[in-house]
Amino acid sequence: MSGKEGCGIAGIALTQNDAALPLFYALYALQHRGQESAGIAVCNRNKEGKGNETSARNDDIQLIRGMGFVHEVFDDEQLKSLKGNIGIGHVRYSTTGASKLENAEPLLVNYKNGKIAIAHNGNLVNTAELGRELEREGRIFHSDTDTEMIAQLLAKELTRHDPIGAIKELMKRVIGSYSLVILMDNLLMAVRDPLGIKPLCLGEIKDEKEEIGEGYIIASESTVIDMLGGKLVRDVRPGEVLLIKDGNLESFQLYKGVNTAHCVFEYIYFARADSILDGKLVYDVRREIGERLAGEHCVEADIVSPVPDSGITFAIGYARQAGLDYIEGFIKNRYVGRTFIMPEKGTRDTAVRLKLNVVQANVAGKRVVLVDDSIVRGTTSRRIVANLKKKGAKEVHLRVGSPPIKAPCYLGINTPTRAELLASNRSMDEICKFLNADSIGYLSLKGLIDSVGMDANNLCLGCLTGKYPVEIPGEVCIVRQLKLTQF
Ligand code: SF4
Repeated sequence: MSGKEGCGIAGIALTQNDAALPLFYALYALQHRGQESAGIAVCNRNKEGKGNETSARNDDIQLIRGMGFVHEVFDDEQLKSLKGNIGIGHVRYSTTGASKLENAEPLLVNYKNGKIAIAHNGNLVNTAELGRELEREGRIFHSDTDTEMIAQLLAKELTRHDPIGAIKELMKRVIGSYSLVILMDNLLMAVRDPLGIKPLCLGEIKDEKEEIGEGYIIASESTVIDMLGGKLVRDVRPGEVLLIKDGNLESFQLYKGVNTAHCVFEYIYFARADSILDGKLVYDVRREIGERLAGEHCVEADIVSPVPDSGITFAIGYARQAGLDYIEGFIKNRYVGRTFIMPEKGTRDTAVRLKLNVVQANVAGKRVVLVDDSIVRGTTSRRIVANLKKKGAKEVHLRVGSPPIKAPCYLGINTPTRAELLASNRSMDEICKFLNADSIGYLSLKGLIDSVGMDANNLCLGCLTGKYPVEIPGEVCIVRQLKLTQF
């Protein structure tokens, strides 16, 4: 994949200890979801030394955010200065808005009783309409993100409703993907959109060593919960709101849909292989994809090599199924960021060269099956194939762990326009020729759906089929039926 990722979010509510350090660890575990900026907000209920929940004022939210990797944004002193045992965190890659500090999250907005901090993973598709409405009402935006629209709408609804009522009104208005963690009024809320497009899970921690303490964890991926020594309880359900206050957790199922629309690319690329998303271990899905790929696109070859790191698990599955040796044709320099986070084309080209070095002795004179997770523009894949051949590979057969990406994503990542997508209007022969590979094989849509093991009606496949689960102007939609529940 060489689009741009979405974001990672986390929320932590502990009974005793400060939340800032575990949130820092959580963001580390989510760093793969965004490297542009990071931030942590905590609710400082112990400010002024009163030490109990009721003493807190709602504007006692402390926020630190900055541009760059998690370890670049926070230092020890800053983390120690963040006092409070509930908080939220965010790592960002821009899906809307420019790469600048104002757009870093969590975002802080005022409401009638104080402040709200909010962190968002996803993308709204009706921002034009919402923005017009909010501007007409005289609201001033400090960022150019859809997250601020969510925050402003929530602030507006909080003038008339309690927090759950306000979220319910918010969910009636916003269309798109949104997993949210919200901090306000000494409570932590987690919200997942009614289709569950982006992941969100709930964990519990009972740390006897007291390093972290006891409480609840909300995170984009379950790996955060593992990292903190907690236990995965379950996924936040599509359309559900969790409210955690004073150590108690309540669930409100505000929407119930006939189907969900989990982003299939979480399984293919975005999520870590050690995460469990909606009941599926991502590693297992990727290995199975590799096995099916070998079944669908078998070829005479000597070795199977991944494009590291994203192709590794697929290549393991392929090699096992095909009975070929798994041998690394490249060694990755792990200190170079993901290629597509470089904003300028020139920088991206340089980054690819810096990042992957061919192990000549492993590929020279060999027929190589090269396995990658997906192809977006094709420019990186073409360079990788060329590098293998330059180092003596006799043949390069490219195998791809997803069907061709034919359409943009409007729901969470910045993929290029149709015109820039390699597979949007090219035949397989043309793609193979462009990449200068000896053969090409993409996983079939059925192979992908079977590997994930979910009904196709419960997955978003928009960028593969051009059919989206929500209404997007000018696009074909298979709109899922949803109903607001009474509670
Ligand atoms: S369009 Fe593709 S990348 Fe975007 S949410 Fe749907 S499956 Fe995921």
